[in-house]
Amino acid sequence: MAESFVYSQPVKIWFGEGKFSCLGQILDEMKIRSAVLVCGKHFSPRAKALMQADPRLTALFDGVEQNPQLSGIEQTVALCREHGADAVIGIGGGSAMDTAKFAAAVSSNPGSALDYYEGRRSFDAGSRLTILAVPTTAGTGSEVTQVSVVSRGTEKKTINNPAFMPTAAIVDPELSASVPPRTTMNTGLDALAHALEGYWSRNHQPISDLMAIEAVGLVLANLERAWRDGGDREARANMAYAALLGGLSFALPKTAASHACSYPLSEDYHLPHGEACAFTLDSLVRINADERLEALCRAVGLTGTEELARRIAELKELGGLRTRLSQLENVDLDKLCRDCAAHPLMKNNPVPLDEAALREMFLKLQ
Ligand code: NAD
Repeated sequence: MAESFVYSQPVKIWFGEGKFSCLGQILDEMKIRSAVLVCGKHFSPRAKALMQADPRLTALFDGVEQNPQLSGIEQTVALCREHGADAVIGIGGGSAMDTAKFAAAVSSNPGSALDYYEGRRSFDAGSRLTILAVPTTAGTGSEVTQVSVVSRGTEKKTINNPAFMPTAAIVDPELSASVPPRTTMNTGLDALAHALEGYWSRNHQPISDLMAIEAVGLVLANLERAWRDGGDREARANMAYAALLGGLSFALPKTAASHACSYPLSEDYHLPHGEACAFTLDSLVRINADERLEALCRAVGLTGTEELARRIAELKELGGLRTRLSQLENVDLDKLCRDCAAHPLMKNNPVPLDEAALREMFLKLQ
């Protein structure tokens, strides 16, 4: 019998090769008069060219870095207020999109980004600026989630708020053609982690499950190809689709233990987000193995969870990602286990994992 659930997905999505060239028409359709562009260094020259061609693109913040800082959001907010912007367009990986989403929510509300980061103020979601999210990596799915991950110094916080939900997304696989191999592997494994964690989350639900299964199959069939040859258009397109589906898979159920562990691994040992999620992903496939996960494996053509775990380990090895604690500097295992166990996302894991269980897992990764 079909289970009961509540499903919603409010983001309008333009998907396909070359779709980004329709930006002008999309701005028309969205009735955008003045937009601030947000990106990192790799997209900055193209953003400047776009601004020359379209007067509605009124300002640019091109200082987004990996693990985006609150200060970048404050600078974007200042530009939005100065130019009376009605939209923010985040073009890049999760770092650029998360900066744009947070800035759009703050700009039309009183106070500073720090007020909201520290919880001193709360957003009136109805008054935020229009958010257009344009991914250039195939990983985070931030274009369809109400999550923004921001850092203040070394502290990294995930803030989940309806005010951050993009109004629309343009997912154009061509934009990811220039992603270097290592980032292709990191981000692709992030997409896989989203799909698997959305699927095994305690809050999983039927529509999200379907997208998760499709995303896992696409990543397993295309990530290695995209990593070997960034110019493989079919593999890039399939990975862009997989990342989008991965985002939709976890948007409602939320992620679980691999993401919970990724925060201490990023904060204390500076692993990029995807690499940090992948660090424990194969271990968690083994820990979370049950009949549902076996069914997912069979649906994507694998013999079972053991083959899935082995395939993840092979991809990490191939991409040169760190897979052992001995590859990290000055590991404090007690703190690592304590921080992972205390992360709120740990509660979503289907198998309860306390500090002792996490220690057992990490000891096998020495
Ligand atoms: P990123 O945005 O940090 O980008 C990684 C690097 O790749 C950067 O140096 C960037 O400039 C470069 N880059 C991006 N696109 C490129 C391209 N087309 N060509 C060449 N270089 C390119 O990495 P990411 O993995 O996409 O995002 C990670 C961030 O997103 C983390 O902060 C993570 O916590 C967050 N995140 C957010 C969500 C969400 O739902 N909001 C989900 C997962 C992760």
